[in-house]
Amino acid sequence: MRQLIKNATVIDGRGSNAFKSDILINNQVITDISPFITTAVDHVIDADGAFVTPGFIDVHSHTDLATFLPQGFKPKIMQGITTELVGLCGLGVSPLPKELQAEHRKRLIIGNPPIDWGWDDFPSYTSALEQQGLEVNVSAFLPHGLLRYQICGNSSIPMNKNQRLKLAQLTDEALGAGARGVSLGLIYHPALFSDRDELLTVAQVAAKYQKPIVVHMRSESDQILEALQEMIVLSEQAGCQLHISHLKLIGQRNAGKLSSLLSLLERYQISFDQYPYHYGSTTLFSILPPALIRAYAPDELMKKLHTSTVRRQVHDWLSERVLPQASEPWDNLPALVGWENILICEVESQEAQKWVGISIAECAQQTDQHPVDFALDLLISEQGNVRMIDYFMDEALVEQIFQHPQGMVGSDTLLGGRLHPRVSGSFPRIINQFVTQRKLLSLEQAIRKMTALSAETFSLHKRGKLAPGYYADIAMFGADFCDHATIEQPERYATGLHNLWVNGQQKISQGKYLNTRSGQFLLAKNGNNGV
Ligand SMILES: [Zn+2]
Repeated sequence: MRQLIKNATVIDGRGSNAFKSDILINNQVITDISPFITTAVDHVIDADGAFVTPGFIDVHSHTDLATFLPQGFKPKIMQGITTELVGLCGLGVSPLPKELQAEHRKRLIIGNPPIDWGWDDFPSYTSALEQQGLEVNVSAFLPHGLLRYQICGNSSIPMNKNQRLKLAQLTDEALGAGARGVSLGLIYHPALFSDRDELLTVAQVAAKYQKPIVVHMRSESDQILEALQEMIVLSEQAGCQLHISHLKLIGQRNAGKLSSLLSLLERYQISFDQYPYHYGSTTLFSILPPALIRAYAPDELMKKLHTSTVRRQVHDWLSERVLPQASEPWDNLPALVGWENILICEVESQEAQKWVGISIAECAQQTDQHPVDFALDLLISEQGNVRMIDYFMDEALVEQIFQHPQGMVGSDTLLGGRLHPRVSGSFPRIINQFVTQRKLLSLEQAIRKMTALSAETFSLHKRGKLAPGYYADIAMFGADFCDHATIEQPERYATGLHNLWVNGQQKISQGKYLNTRSGQFLLAKNGNNGV
């Protein structure tokens, strides 16, 4: 089918100035971009001067299971996103042998909808997604945390040589089968137990395939520079590409580190992504120090949190009266941002719903407890399944990071329960807030961070630009393109997207959401020239 977009204000993704043009699409592919195209076509869409850009690429999304959920990728699609990268922060759903899945699913940070996992290895996961039908393009990283769990279970003991050989073999299999790179999440259990030799093993296999390691660092606060250095040394030793996930700097006391952080990223030409908010969202479990998680298996830890000895220890650590282990990096959120800046955003039980949307400081006041005791009691009663929102840094620093040319946009979408507004708002918020209102960058430069830069960094072949020969992943929006999601109303979709094409098929047509599933699973080819 031939489609013609007339009268477009084209922003092609490269960062260069917008220009007036028509765009011709033939089936899945853009075949011509020039003014006044007169070829006979099946369908004409008059842009009437609206912006036409490449479909946005979300380089950091935990939507590994979204295609199996009733709403699918809708919060993302309404933002103009046509490609999602999943399997990040070392977390994910594949590869994992069937016999380990039930236990793993109990503590799945990315959410655990009640669906049948019909897969075990990477190829069976990708075919499950394809069979379900994808609304957008999806590509997946290999989560290192899953491999560690498969090989060592919950053990905190460093891998021995045989285990590392197994790790290399599993990494090789998944990268050979088309995983986009390897993701590390070094604050999460059990990946936080991994030592240099273990990480070097996966990084070396990544280097062999010329694929990146994508890292949630061990520290995003007091020891962030050391944590970044650790990854720089690792990637240099292995000879692989390094990308830093959701770059941020937690805690007012660390604000002064930003310039050193950005200089390091510049010196080593390291790419990174960021979501455009000064508050984050993750499991409340991550307030616990690694020393404690190291000492007890997850089920045992839940029991230990009742005991007065462990409770006293946690009090001492969280208040920084005592440091758990000086050498071990740890984002001590309560000490860094304060209990008043940590909000409960998702719980499992009915009884606990009343705490949702309230800061832990306030909850504790209501129950007449110390915030530490309130938080631990909640973790116990919810069996660890509590998600929080934490205000981690000043907006001015978020803006400064956004202006850096090596940064791109990744929403860090976590689905299920009460969402973070970044799930439905990230991309239009960049345009509406960071470009139109605050004028931090030009629209063209901002679009580059959502499209071409992302595609180049992760070798998404023929994506991320509007050019002849490129896939017709295209967004069209007006000057009123705007996010509406807030902490209070996180599910509000963006508005102002007129049309969206995924591989040449319309997913949104004149503002109407269609039921098409024209996305593809994008396997990464070996040698870093993916399809
Ligand atoms: Zn992460």
